[in-house]
Amino acid sequence: MNRKLSKHKKNWHVEDSAALYGLNQWGDCYFSINDRGHIDVSPNGDSNNKLDLIELIHELKGRNLTLPMLIRFDDILEDRLEKLHNAFKVAIEYYNYKGSYQGVFPIKCNQQRHVVEELVSCGYKWNFGLEAGSKAELLIALSLLNDPKALLICNGYKDQRYIETAILARQVGRQPFVVIEQAEEIERIITASKKLGAAPLIGIRAKLSSRSIGRWGNSVGEKAKFGLSIPDILITFEKLCTANLIDDLKLLHFHIGSQINDIGILKDSLQEAGQIYTELRRLGAPINYLDVGGGLGIDYDGSKTVSPASTNYSLQNYANDVVATIQECCKSNNVQMPNLITESGRAIASHFSILIFNILGSSSVPSNTPNTGQNEALIVKNLRETLDNIKKIPHSKLSDHTYLQEAWNDVLKFKDDALTAFRLGYLGLPERAKAEQLSWSCAKEIVKRLPKHEEIPKELNNLHESLAEVYYANLSVFRSAPDTWAIDQLFPIMPIHRLDEEPTKLGSFADLTCDSDGKISSFIDNGNIKSLLELHKIHPGEDYFIGLFLGGAYQEVMGNLHNLFGSTNAVNIRLTSRGKYKLDHVIRSNTKSDVLKAMDHDPEELLERLRIATETAIQKDKLKIIDAQRLMDHIEHSLRQSTYLQS
Ligand SMILES: *Cc1c(COP(=O)(O)O)cnc(C)c1O
Repeated sequence: MNRKLSKHKKNWHVEDSAALYGLNQWGDCYFSINDRGHIDVSPNGDSNNKLDLIELIHELKGRNLTLPMLIRFDDILEDRLEKLHNAFKVAIEYYNYKGSYQGVFPIKCNQQRHVVEELVSCGYKWNFGLEAGSKAELLIALSLLNDPKALLICNGYKDQRYIETAILARQVGRQPFVVIEQAEEIERIITASKKLGAAPLIGIRAKLSSRSIGRWGNSVGEKAKFGLSIPDILITFEKLCTANLIDDLKLLHFHIGSQINDIGILKDSLQEAGQIYTELRRLGAPINYLDVGGGLGIDYDGSKTVSPASTNYSLQNYANDVVATIQECCKSNNVQMPNLITESGRAIASHFSILIFNILGSSSVPSNTPNTGQNEALIVKNLRETLDNIKKIPHSKLSDHTYLQEAWNDVLKFKDDALTAFRLGYLGLPERAKAEQLSWSCAKEIVKRLPKHEEIPKELNNLHESLAEVYYANLSVFRSAPDTWAIDQLFPIMPIHRLDEEPTKLGSFADLTCDSDGKISSFIDNGNIKSLLELHKIHPGEDYFIGLFLGGAYQEVMGNLHNLFGSTNAVNIRLTSRGKYKLDHVIRSNTKSDVLKAMDHDPEELLERLRIATETAIQKDKLKIIDAQRLMDHIEHSLRQSTYLQS
């Protein structure tokens, strides 16, 4: 261990980093910090079997895989599946529930071939199934799901062909449930069943009226996009009876939105759905499955609260509440208990993938105090004086922020004067530069003196942010973390090394795109949100790696090609023996050629046009042949490479 490291260790320990970034709260059994200050990953939740993330990245770089990169741990996916099934097993045994549990994975949560294939094969022992929300997803589910006992839930808008496909698939030996989401779909099901002389398994999605909150709160209630209202459910029931299809009505479904924060909301919905189930049973519907949808949340900020980035319940609480609430409802109505289905997506897929990106550099406002020159402009002198005055405010007076507020008002006034004087030609460029630097020096001194834990005016508090560093990330937010931009989703983000060293900077991230929205400036803070993250000083020539965690659900497919930044490298890792791993899959990042083609450009044609332009320049003696070739070589080479910056 070198001297510098041990010096840091005296007052900063890896435990301090774990506490600062909340790692022990959101990291579950999968992420921890080792004594080298690196993040360790325990893919199967066993702390005796870990991989050092930094070592792993170096070995991946050795295989010519550059950053940014998605590292996916298939063992985590399998472990999440195990934990979900175990939670329901425990709950069913504990309450002595008279029905089974069977899960399905909603494909829309992560459609990647390898993810779906992996879940189908790991899930075989539980007859784990799939949920499709479109015809393309149905095709995936029909082809990949080869277990006759697994369920295939067909949600989403359905046309005639969708329904006929499901009916025919039943004859292939699959178990497709066509869930009626819109009142019109019942007619299509009846028509298709008559035409084919066979019926699908039928489900009904109920539009619940229970209260809801949060981002996806409008998934319930009368105005919800999907599901049948109570009158429509009764009409559908009648129509199925008339068409002689009632024997195939086997499932009742509801879904109250993603990331349910408050278990109280879920309980209300379960009670309402439970009542609808028992009423329908009493009317004679042979329903024997209750599908409680998705919504099982992730504790992104580790606070265990109802904040949007958290949940006030655990996986076991969730399973217990589903089982106990439905049991209670059936018992008091003396109705047979249904088999339970969940469609949890986020809860299965979030943990398994980590996005790693490197930092290209950082910048902050120029706040060094400039040297005093001769004949300085009055405005500059005024600012110097203000700076001295701030430094002279006696310590005893600092608890009253009015002194600092007054000083800052002076700074703003002088800064404004400087700008006016510059515009009118009374102040030269070097003097204006000094005025700017001095204003920031004043801000820095004020921030140093701000009383802690007191009501400070927002304006002064915001100085922190103005002085903070911007870290330039080799990343496109729009490609790799779109929900941070689109719906203000919070993910745990932290350095994945140097965690035995105190982070002395505060900063936020700016991405590579030329879009001012291309930034990350909201970070988890134990149930709150902070705009700046504690980061380390960048050492020139040394890598600084940041990890975005819990992003395995929804991000990849929502990501787009803004500014033509394409997909990143992605690798799938499987543990082999202790501490060893193999790369199961490598998906290379999009090349520039790929993203150009995606927008209908022809890379060959672009090259040819450029070649012709160089020929013309050569003819006019403006370009040497060797330089023309150099230019063409650069571009040809670049077309075959990733869209991100090479370190
Ligand atoms: C999106 C969706 C899900 C998955 O929700 P999660 O919150 O990811 O578990 C489940 N069911 C339906 C009908 C959905 O639309």
